[in-house]
Amino acid sequence: MTLTLTVHRGTQQIGGSCIEIAHPDGDRLILDAGRPLDAPEGATGLLPASLDRTRPATVLISHPHQDHWGLVEELPLTWPIWTGSASAKLIAVTGDVTRRPLARTFETWDSRSGPFAIGPFTVTPILTDHSAFDAYMLLVDGAGKRLLYTGDFRRHRRKSALVDRIMAQPPADIDVLLTEGTNLGSDKPVKTEDEIEHEFAELFARTKGRVFVSWSGQNIDRTVTIYRAAKRTGRTLAIDLYTADVLDRISEGTGVPRAGFPNLKVVVTRGLGGSYRSQSREDFIERLVPHGISAKRLEGSRDVVMLRRGLIHDYQRAGVVPTADDAFNFSMWRGYLSEPYHSEALEWCRAAGAEIAYIHTSGHASPADLRAFATAVRPKTVVPVHGVKWDEESHGFGAVRRLADAEPMAVL
Ligand SMILES: [Zn+2]
Ligand SMILES: [Zn+2]
Repeated sequence: MTLTLTVHRGTQQIGGSCIEIAHPDGDRLILDAGRPLDAPEGATGLLPASLDRTRPATVLISHPHQDHWGLVEELPLTWPIWTGSASAKLIAVTGDVTRRPLARTFETWDSRSGPFAIGPFTVTPILTDHSAFDAYMLLVDGAGKRLLYTGDFRRHRRKSALVDRIMAQPPADIDVLLTEGTNLGSDKPVKTEDEIEHEFAELFARTKGRVFVSWSGQNIDRTVTIYRAAKRTGRTLAIDLYTADVLDRISEGTGVPRAGFPNLKVVVTRGLGGSYRSQSREDFIERLVPHGISAKRLEGSRDVVMLRRGLIHDYQRAGVVPTADDAFNFSMWRGYLSEPYHSEALEWCRAAGAEIAYIHTSGHASPADLRAFATAVRPKTVVPVHGVKWDEESHGFGAVRRLADAEPMAVL
């Protein structure tokens, strides 16, 4: 009698991850309950049909990206859900700002938790480098078998030491490595956050006016990168209330910048300000006021200004419009530019004659790093997930077992 591994979703796609590990005595762990990236806004009923919801299970969320946690509201109410303590806060902020507060609560671990028991399983969360803050690999022991799930990861400096440490001293005797493969099939080099900090500093130095930047407020590494480049070039970074809220919730006890740091201001716009007041978060707004500026103050400044579609209207109303002296940088995956939600900010700046730049680096490991990781861990079997090029690119990973979604595999 051994563990049974079932990838309910993720063997053929990036995102929507949902993996089950079943113990011979009937206990089950579910690793991630992700929303498929191509799911239409507002769609429900998206849990994989093969996931049996009539029996108990415990859910572990690897990191706070929606393609890993976005279906938690659909899980049976009796199933406990675990995640990192900062992840739990970042997941909650998404619900709060969209005015759809999460009904589910989380049990949490933190980066110093060490192994803990869930029924007959022992779970060890291992902090990793990824574009999400508080991202973990998950080591699962049960029935004498051992699985390591990478979640999403990269090895891009600043936090790459976390991954290097795992590679230097990998957990022994791994039976199955469940690894992501997002970047397989692309051969473009993956830049480090330090390299793009340098590119940002160059852009800030050569631009006469303001630099508008679009990035995800939840990508804290990127916020840090942009903040450092702004500071180096004597500019102030102007973030929105949402990003300030994210930093406020997770930065305590870390070196992560937050309201009150030099060269950092929070733009209090009408739209977001109203949204926070309607959620009775006046206390938060009050606390930020000493570090806040109105959108009007961006006019005539040389600030680095966060920009997304939702802010354009409030900026325009305050007289803030891009000019040919300004620049714009899109700092997210280029594929998002096919969506109006993301392209509108770029087009708004392009129409004004601003320089358009693209400084970004992936949140995922390069193909070489993915292979080096699998080689270092030396599992008996590699099970590919979270990728679309696995059929062509599975060489260099050792013994790969290609599963279909919902196909059970006995861990031998
Ligand atoms: Zn993902
Ligand atoms: Zn991710």
